[in-house]
Amino acid sequence: MAGVAFRNISKVFGKDVKAVDNLNLEIKDKEFMVLVGPSGCGKTTALRMIAGLEEATDGDIMIGDVRVNDVPPKDRDIAMVFQNYALYPHMNVYDNIAFGLRLRELKGFFWQLTHSAEAKKVKQDIDDRVKEAARMLDIEKYLGRRPKELSGGQRQRVALARAIVRKPKVFLMDEPLSNLDAKLRVQTRYELISLHRKLGITTIYVTHDQVEAMTMGERMAIMRDGVLQQCDRPELVYAHPANKFVAGFIGSPPMNFLEATIIGGKIDAGAFVLPIVGNEAARAYEGKKVVLGIRPEEIYDKSVPSNMTASSDNTIKATVDVMEPLGHEYVAYLKVGDIKLVASIDKETKLKPLTEAEFCINLDRLHIFDADTEEAVG
Ligand code: ATP
Repeated sequence: MAGVAFRNISKVFGKDVKAVDNLNLEIKDKEFMVLVGPSGCGKTTALRMIAGLEEATDGDIMIGDVRVNDVPPKDRDIAMVFQNYALYPHMNVYDNIAFGLRLRELKGFFWQLTHSAEAKKVKQDIDDRVKEAARMLDIEKYLGRRPKELSGGQRQRVALARAIVRKPKVFLMDEPLSNLDAKLRVQTRYELISLHRKLGITTIYVTHDQVEAMTMGERMAIMRDGVLQQCDRPELVYAHPANKFVAGFIGSPPMNFLEATIIGGKIDAGAFVLPIVGNEAARAYEGKKVVLGIRPEEIYDKSVPSNMTASSDNTIKATVDVMEPLGHEYVAYLKVGDIKLVASIDKETKLKPLTEAEFCINLDRLHIFDADTEEAVG
């Protein structure tokens, strides 16, 4: 087992495509770390550098205490699972899972023809490991089938089984669930988390899907244009995003952003003014422009009982434009003058489109960002 570290890692393609820009990130031994960000932010490149499939332009890649920049991929003791499962179509599931082990462990042997006691022992060990992996991933009954006789979800499990039989120091996973339909994705997400708990192998998981990042990662590292934006536990990133980009990327529906000015110790968003609660740093912005961030679930329909106490300070009037029923809640599109807001509203609401209503905003959960740097204030 081993941790992984990026120390001042940069990767430049050609003359000027900086895919990864001075990345510093420590993934602890046994940790499940998710690298997340929009397309092109450099997450796959970062992963490929750990695997040795891409060479770092600058910096050190560490696996455990060893600097691996110059270690060939096959000697890094990692296993990688990709979005396209890359199974061998002419081999059955058993042979797909066993193939890498046979290459490694039976080395120069012509394994099928070898009858020495030593080769037999190795073959038995491989057989045990293949069956154990198949059992863990619930694919024992498919061991005799070819990949084309399996569903996408089953193929992905074979790819995972092939990775876990190796018992590597580190697992690298690049969008392994994106070819699965929504229901299977949720199920496999859960299975991967259980598998990680059972095996305790350091795992680095790349995705552009913020829900996967939130639900799977013990910690998540959010990247943008090759630059690490924030790395922390999902609930902390959600509650305290480091900047406007992270705040907008994590959460669905996304956070509302409003241009505002701090005036008289209050946040003036034009159509309404809210007091600043518990954010002393924001007071230093007196007279300056800021960006106000409000998560949709922090806007409450005043007429539905909740643990929010309405007061003149936290209540706004808005016109309901559209109500989208999701079953467990509504997504309400609201207008306050020129300002548009999205709110996640309790399913007991009686709000109707094109009517005016009162809403309470949770003042304890407001986010304020510097208008120039977009960094969180406070
Ligand atoms: P996606 O989610 O779309 O896979 P990503 O976040 O994984 O995106 P990367 O694939 O790491 O992003 O790419 C980061 C940047 O590096 C992009 O601008 C991409 O175009 C560029 N890039 C990646 N590989 C190469 C390459 N071999 N040659 C030139 N540019 C590359």
